[in-house]
Amino acid sequence: MVRQDVDIAVIGAGPVGGTLALALAARGHKVLLVDRADLTPMEDPAFDGRGYAIAAGCQPLLELAGVWDALPFAPCPILDIDVTDGKVGRRPSALKLHFDHQAVGGAFGWIIEARSIRVAINKRLHEAEGVLLRAPALARVERDADGADVFVGEEVFRARLLVAADGRNSALRAQAGIRVTKLPYNQSAVIFALAHEKPHRGVALEHFLPGGPFAVLPLTGTAEHPNLSAVVFTERDALAQRLYVMEDAPFMREVEARLCGRLGAVAQVGRRWTHRLEAMYAHRYFAERLALVGDAAHGVHPIAGQGLNLGLQDVATLVEILSGVEDVGAPGVLAQYQAARRPVNMAMLLGMDTLDRLFSTNFAPVRLARDLGLAVVDRMPRLKRRFMLTAMGR
Ligand SMILES: Cc1cc2nc3c(=O)[nH]c(=O)nc-3n(C[C@H](O)[C@H](O)[C@H](O)COP(=O)(O)OP(=O)(O)OC[C@H]3O[C@@H](n4cnc5c(N)ncnc54)[C@H](O)[C@@H]3O)c2cc1C
Repeated sequence: MVRQDVDIAVIGAGPVGGTLALALAARGHKVLLVDRADLTPMEDPAFDGRGYAIAAGCQPLLELAGVWDALPFAPCPILDIDVTDGKVGRRPSALKLHFDHQAVGGAFGWIIEARSIRVAINKRLHEAEGVLLRAPALARVERDADGADVFVGEEVFRARLLVAADGRNSALRAQAGIRVTKLPYNQSAVIFALAHEKPHRGVALEHFLPGGPFAVLPLTGTAEHPNLSAVVFTERDALAQRLYVMEDAPFMREVEARLCGRLGAVAQVGRRWTHRLEAMYAHRYFAERLALVGDAAHGVHPIAGQGLNLGLQDVATLVEILSGVEDVGAPGVLAQYQAARRPVNMAMLLGMDTLDRLFSTNFAPVRLARDLGLAVVDRMPRLKRRFMLTAMGR
């Protein structure tokens, strides 16, 4: 067995674990990163049609990690956000909420193609000094009061801290006996890219319908499709599964019935993806020599595109807390991380949950109250500014 010391071992090289490893290395830590998937640097993988909303407040972290400058495709700034309410096949209610970036002095954030983030992170992981990357590989871990041993093939690494960034079904979380609570929504999202006739002008649309929100997020166009958006089409499970496998022509009719001509003629680009939606939270964010980040710690409804942002904010906080600390896995350090992140993430989870339940109903009095609520908030510039800053991760 070859033995090596590292400061921190991160298991899971998704967008959260990958960014964490790079940011920690940029701050001078020696990091082991293990993922069971192959992370070959891809020069130009096929367009996949999914987009991540990245809040403006996450950009400094992506810059520190060297990911921002490595993005192969230009992110699309989110300039305005329209929140509307309606029914399928009908124009949205006239009572709506409009967020304008001019009120906060800059873009709310960006929509970044999922493949763009993946390419940038994988490229940086292969070139970053201070990151020992083992992928595809499986790790076996043993924790004790002073650190953790991470066994990968014929190698064993001794770390002061182990970080679980291994996603929703985190094996490390389960192994540590950390309990989770799950909140099913009975909703699924169908995700795809949409080419459209009219330009989106940087506007993100959140259109609430009884079956779930229909979100249209602006993407940077391509030579072939100058006007392009990423769509997250949420519906009750059974209908979403029918939509997922539907022929293109009837599927586009379902899309048009929700857009009501807003973007002109539309056509799907690339394939469709589907995800069952479920909120989830871990009861603790740490155990002996172990910290949870990203989806291993929490999952929120994608209603406002906050899932990855919360994970990146976990990363930014952990990197700050660990800077200059002698023992990065000491219980007090990990408790400080939990105190900084868990209440904020729980508040977001609760907020998204309430929004979804409030809007996913056809009950007339509730519809009227929420439309009036949208219109009232629309006339309250200070409250709107607070909402905008929260969405920006500030
Ligand atoms: C429909 C939908 C739409 C969404 N839209 C948005 C959006 O617009 N904006 C946004 O911010 N968020 C969005 N999200 C949420 C976002 O996708 C997640 O929050 C994000 O992917 C979490 O990243 P992660 O790195 O924590 O976990 P993951 O992306 O799940 O990565 C986990 C990594 O760990 C690895 N792994 C797992 N188990 C092991 C193991 N045992 N050993 C080694 N490696 C392992 C996996 O291979 C993977 O690479 C959306 C989610 C859904 C479902």
